[in-house]
Amino acid sequence: SAEEVLRLRKEFLSPALFLYYKKPVMFVEGKGQYIFDEKGRRYLDGLGGIVTISVGHCHPHVLEAVNKQNATLQHSTTIYLHPNIAEFGQKLASKMPGDLKVCYFVNSGSEANDLAMLMARAYTGNYDMIALRNSYHGGNASGMAATSHSTWKFNVPHSFGVHHAMAPDPYRGPYGRNDPDAGKKYAADVKNLIDFGTSGQIAGFIAESIQGVGGVIVFPDGYLKHAYEHARAAGGVCIADEVQAGFARTGTHYWGFETQGVIPDIVTMAKGIGNGCPLAAVVTTPQIASVLAKRIHFNTFGGNPVVCAQGKAVMEVIEKENLQANALNMGSYVLAGLERLKEKHNIIGDVRGKGLMLGIELVKDRTTKEPAKSECAQILETCKDLGLLLGKGGLTGNIIRFAPPMCINKGDADFMLEVFDAAFSTL
Ligand code: PMP
Repeated sequence: SAEEVLRLRKEFLSPALFLYYKKPVMFVEGKGQYIFDEKGRRYLDGLGGIVTISVGHCHPHVLEAVNKQNATLQHSTTIYLHPNIAEFGQKLASKMPGDLKVCYFVNSGSEANDLAMLMARAYTGNYDMIALRNSYHGGNASGMAATSHSTWKFNVPHSFGVHHAMAPDPYRGPYGRNDPDAGKKYAADVKNLIDFGTSGQIAGFIAESIQGVGGVIVFPDGYLKHAYEHARAAGGVCIADEVQAGFARTGTHYWGFETQGVIPDIVTMAKGIGNGCPLAAVVTTPQIASVLAKRIHFNTFGGNPVVCAQGKAVMEVIEKENLQANALNMGSYVLAGLERLKEKHNIIGDVRGKGLMLGIELVKDRTTKEPAKSECAQILETCKDLGLLLGKGGLTGNIIRFAPPMCINKGDADFMLEVFDAAFSTL
């Protein structure tokens, strides 16, 4: 029973593990966009395993590929040849713009960002990194250093030399949505930080294309273009963390950075790339990748035959089932519905997002924008009781996140909006 599992977890597992709901829920099965608890009750997985289930739970094409590989050879490492890693690398590279084509496979987003920052430092010979306030880049030492989110930080020394520039947050920041120069103005903070907070020469600039954990912060147009220019002028390379916004989720583009019209020097990816298996990657240019040619850098599980079979199958499903177009259609439909709900419920301060990466910011008062944190937790709990899982984000946990598998249909979108409306009516 869920109670017994909870008891075992409390006794034998790290107290660092946290539960989303006051009344915990246990899931034992998943199919497509739905997930089922131990009593067989169905939920719409509106968070997709924290923005990870891109093509749906237990997709038959993915299962076929991975089961076949599991039955043939489960493990070998990169010290031997295997076709899967080569074919998957080629497929991934085919989706990358510009000179981006050299892949290094690892196991998690944190590892990918750690490696990306190592590459940036090794390639430029500089040390200082610029990241953004509100960011989440991982739970290992360097990922945590790049993260700017007090919830996820430990007050222990981890990795030095990461400086945080202002988050380009059009809802809370000084330059609003109606300011056509907002992107340029926020990016000026990157330049100020480089000029006055570092040695003046940096290793790189790392940013999510849309800040996920930070509360679905969509940057003003032009922000990344200007920020990249400042970073490059100071000798740095530009790292796009596509862990959440990548793999077609924004609907209009395959990569989140494309929505800002930029081409990074290094791209990191995880979560949606593997649809639930530990698969992540760093993709860069041959020139930057060559910095690792002079040394040995090894990863035991990275790019193993099973995860590469899974990753390749996931990309095939995104293409065959037109999930990018579906993310755009369903995302626009839900966003329009959320705009209507905003008219009805004063607690909704802002709705935003691209494709199926949506955020709903709750405030106690629309003028002061005081975060409605406890109300947010209550809404999440009510939605769960009504069969809808959602996420939480933002510096104070007052932003609801909707990032379901990209295969949701109109019925699911209507269900989400109805449940949401009903939950707000209980406040
Ligand atoms: N980058 C981003 C943008 C993320 O959202 C996350 C995870 N929430 C990470 C990196 C770290 O990924 P992982 O948990 O796989 O280490």
